[in-house]
Amino acid sequence: MRIKLEDAVEQILDSVRVTEKSEKVGIYRAGGRILSSDYMARYNQPPFDRSPLDGYAMAHESLAGASEETPAILPVSMHIFAGDVNVGALPRGTAARIMTGAMIPDGADCVIRQEFTDLGEERVQIYKELKAHDNICDKGEDVGQGMIIARRGEVVTHAEAALLAGQGNWEVKAYKALSVGIVSTGSELVVGDTLMPGQIFNSNGPMVALRLHELYMHSREVCVDDEPVKIRRHIEDMLKVCDAVITTGGVSVGDKDYMPQVLEEMGAEFVIRGVAMKPGGPVTVASFEGKLIFALSGNPFAALATLELIALPALLKQQGCRYYRHRPESARLMVPYPKISKGRRFLRGTYHDGYVVMPGVDSQVSGSISGLKECNCLIDISPENASVSAGSIVRVFPFLSLRNDAPMEVKLPLAECVYGERRAAGSNPSYTSSW
Ligand code: AMP
Ligand code: MG
Repeated sequence: MRIKLEDAVEQILDSVRVTEKSEKVGIYRAGGRILSSDYMARYNQPPFDRSPLDGYAMAHESLAGASEETPAILPVSMHIFAGDVNVGALPRGTAARIMTGAMIPDGADCVIRQEFTDLGEERVQIYKELKAHDNICDKGEDVGQGMIIARRGEVVTHAEAALLAGQGNWEVKAYKALSVGIVSTGSELVVGDTLMPGQIFNSNGPMVALRLHELYMHSREVCVDDEPVKIRRHIEDMLKVCDAVITTGGVSVGDKDYMPQVLEEMGAEFVIRGVAMKPGGPVTVASFEGKLIFALSGNPFAALATLELIALPALLKQQGCRYYRHRPESARLMVPYPKISKGRRFLRGTYHDGYVVMPGVDSQVSGSISGLKECNCLIDISPENASVSAGSIVRVFPFLSLRNDAPMEVKLPLAECVYGERRAAGSNPSYTSSW
């Protein structure tokens, strides 16, 4: 009996060690990188009380009783622009002309929008009363000093870039992008221009490489004949320079399926040998000197499905990523899947907004490359509902992507996220810096 997919994934994840390699990356080049350190706000943001609009700042008492009929008339004693430093104090009974983003002077406690004034230059008429604190943007109201702004294991997106740069972090500490060795095996495979009868072009190599690249991992590849000595040498060479190895082909029970034998001869330790799923069931994962080797079937869809479901969660975890598990969704299947299957089967699908469609049955065969196009999920067809009618609800596994939104976690406003604890008393911290 082959092991259940979910159990296989957990078993493999348990054997993954997060990379220890970390480096400093300029913020402009950090997109897609995984932070290797928590980041705390060093400054309040904004760093000073500031005006959120163009108008006049004054003490609210100066506007007592002001209205359209009886405007307050104040001398304009200062002009303050965004970027002016050390602006000083506002003389009593006067107003400061002030622009958006400029610092509120001492002595002022409110700002009037210029539309409620006559825009006077030396003296300004103001047609409205204000309360203390009206239109004041407080120091630290966006990000308070000491708050967590980004966490270890999060991917740097535009949002993290804004928060990190907003605190003067022009370089960030990120895990080194993993380097994965790809060994495409098969004597029929061609990487050149022309095919002899009986040969095919190697499409798995580029497919795996680009899928890894979508998750910001590097790769290098060799294409090898079905010869155990050569296969072993190439795997060993890759292990010397890469953080993990993915092989495709030769993992089944055919006469030239050498992968299990090669792994055994190398002295690799098997983590899983086969998973109860189609396609790609013979998938084998082994560990060698702390590095994982994922041996996937050669059929393009078998390779992709097992890459997605089995190898990528492990590699993302190794890459230091906080969110490395798939998040299955329920979806309404828009087309029937009439084929009866004995075991659990994954199909290619395009999932959007609660609905999933899929290429026709012919494109679902595991040797099909054309069926991969535009697919963004794997549809989980369990043995019980082997023949699925249109309109039924199925589980789908959207492809993994680098993102920080974790819908299963309570969204904690940044303002309540203080280093290592939650600011609001009485509530459980749902933020933790380790995982
Ligand atoms: P295997 O897993 O080696 O038995 O291969 C299963 C099928 O996948 C065969 O039809 C192979 O020709 C095909 N195949 C294996 N490797 C690749 C590859 N790198 N690119 C495209 N097809 C492949
Ligand atoms: Mg083969």
